Amino acid sequence: MATLQEAVKSIETNPEIRHVVSVSGGKDSAALAVYLKQNYPEIPAEYVFCDTGTELPETYEYLEKMEALLGVKVKHINALETSGIKPKAGRNAFDWFLKERYGGFLPSPRMRWCTRVLKIQPFERYLANSECFSYIGIRADENREGYVSQKKPPVISQRPEIVPVYPFRDDGIRIAEVYKILDDSGLGIPEYYKWRSRSGCFFCFYQQKGEWQRLKKNHPELYEAAKKYERTEGDKQFTWVEGRSLAEFENDTTVYPLPQLDSDDGCAICHL
Ligand code: SF4
Repeated sequence: MATLQEAVKSIETNPEIRHVVSVSGGKDSAALAVYLKQNYPEIPAEYVFCDTGTELPETYEYLEKMEALLGVKVKHINALETSGIKPKAGRNAFDWFLKERYGGFLPSPRMRWCTRVLKIQPFERYLANSECFSYIGIRADENREGYVSQKKPPVISQRPEIVPVYPFRDDGIRIAEVYKILDDSGLGIPEYYKWRSRSGCFFCFYQQKGEWQRLKKNHPELYEAAKKYERTEGDKQFTWVEGRSLAEFENDTTVYPLPQLDSDDGCAICHL
């Protein structure tokens, strides 16, 4: 781990080290991109987004808005491209890995292969062994775990040449400041926060019942697409929501609440 000041100092002492800011389409990483651009313009930042190909339309719109506002290009890193798999119309990275590598076995909180193959490995391959500072939007007031549960703050990669930096922790930026940074800049928060608490894939299994209900309302076509991934084999059900399929769940007449927007749970790589 390096401090923000150490990373900034390295611009002169070690100019070959890359500075990579990972954005997820969520508010904290977006605020980090704005904060660094406004307060540390000397950082030669590369902005990257690990694109599963199955993100919400609002996420892509938000990233475009960020690019226009900051005058930067956000590099979309795609697992198919970084794995050398030929592009094909209608084929996205999630579908390829689900079918070719995981035999249709849907990811879940206990078997989270999606984060590893769609976010972490493409990020590492993109960097291709370069030394880099990896800027992560963990706030000073949160206690979130990464892909590998650990006592240390979350990292995107465990590789030693990819050194995590937590500017919000170093500069004491908490949730109120994150909202202020986004408001003042004109970027605001992503539209999907009106009905969902996290960035990430439209079918993300971290969604809670209230979010699935609102996915159906706001993007019925994506709800239908999520349903198509589910299947039954013998007495085994492969579903997104434990214990019942989305087809069963849509008949539930209870209106479930939305989870809190600022909760610290969920994956630090996909949901910052
Ligand atoms: S957003 Fe959810 S489903 Fe998508 S890669 Fe992350 S953990 Fe997996």
